[in-house]
Amino acid sequence: TSWFSHVEPAAKDPILGVTEAFLADPSPDKVNVGVGAYRDDNGKPVVLDCVREAEGRIAGNLNMEYLPMGGSNKMVEESLKLAYGEDSEFLKDKRVAAVQSLSGTGACRLFADFQKRFLPDSQIYIPVPTWANHHNIWRDARVPQRSFHYYHPETKGLDFAALMDDVKNAPNGSFFLLHACAHNPTGVDPSEEQWREISYQFKVKNHFPFFDMAYQGFASGDPERDAKAIRIFLEDGHLIGCAQSYAKNMGLYGQRVGCLSILCEDELQAVAVKSQLQQIARPMYSNPPVHGSLIVSIILSDPELKSQWLKEVKGMADRIISMRSTLRQNLEKLGSPLSWEHITNQIGMFCYSGLTPEQVDRLTNDFHIYMTRNGRISMAGVTTGNVGYLANAIHEVTK
Ligand code: PLP
Repeated sequence: TSWFSHVEPAAKDPILGVTEAFLADPSPDKVNVGVGAYRDDNGKPVVLDCVREAEGRIAGNLNMEYLPMGGSNKMVEESLKLAYGEDSEFLKDKRVAAVQSLSGTGACRLFADFQKRFLPDSQIYIPVPTWANHHNIWRDARVPQRSFHYYHPETKGLDFAALMDDVKNAPNGSFFLLHACAHNPTGVDPSEEQWREISYQFKVKNHFPFFDMAYQGFASGDPERDAKAIRIFLEDGHLIGCAQSYAKNMGLYGQRVGCLSILCEDELQAVAVKSQLQQIARPMYSNPPVHGSLIVSIILSDPELKSQWLKEVKGMADRIISMRSTLRQNLEKLGSPLSWEHITNQIGMFCYSGLTPEQVDRLTNDFHIYMTRNGRISMAGVTTGNVGYLANAIHEVTK
């Protein structure tokens, strides 16, 4: 008998399954707006010029030694400047415990494990909806999950009143998962004023904000602007946690490079917290990979390369923003009586279109357009070449 005869196949990942179906479709018209990775206007994956330049500098000069358990100190230092601000007093005071992580996913998971280990009775409040993997991450870390209102299906915007009620009604000192910018999957972010109110209420309730920042720079085109929510919470004197990823904003998806940080009360606490984060990482993967972190630290510590990166990240954000306008204009030109304003109000990689699962099925079956059944369109997959076809198909299935 087999040891593993009782093992059933796992449920398909809802996002990766879309790509599989897309690849299997022989139609020349097919469009993939399922995948959350940037594409250029020809639908091709992009390697940034600043990344190519950094790789050129690394080539032949790199030994293959292990990084420390907490990863590259230089990469971590540069990442903290991006998130907390170049001149942050918290960095000067060494109050931030931080380690290199296996991209954003690894940062979230490390935090969830840390939360379980040191606050075993705590829960995590997660927005509805959220990136599906958040549920898996906190589930596998055995942290109980609660939800809070976020998206309003009718306005296709933020349900701010319900969100605030949930913040007020959660037990004092609760943990909340917040998307720092470019909320996935909805593309709906609170306004600056709303962030200030949320921060104020968190203070009243003594909640702990954990920011997942997978898209810094990718939303507005400016990493400083996209860090605004975090900066507001910092100004208000919160202690925070933060997951950073270079997957999207540097196009380093497969390199798995990111950073987990926790702002502590003082340096002593930060030293203790960092040592515990390292201890959680040690039996899982010992230390993180070296190549991607070198690319990041070379780019961010060289003023010329950094300004090139800023230009390139703005280029990606701008292309997406212009595709939003074009898609909306096309739908309006076709005479669609529905409102498509949310396409341009939403921000970041995704448009939460409001298409029903049945309408998505029609898009796929009749038009070879692939996306997740929640109606999430990856704007990164929309190009000058396919936006007209996409608009027409959406118009046909929403008539
Ligand atoms: N968090 C959010 C909200 C995301 O959308 C993603 C990627 O899709 C991630 C985290 C993590 O991505 P990665 O692990 O590739 O950095």
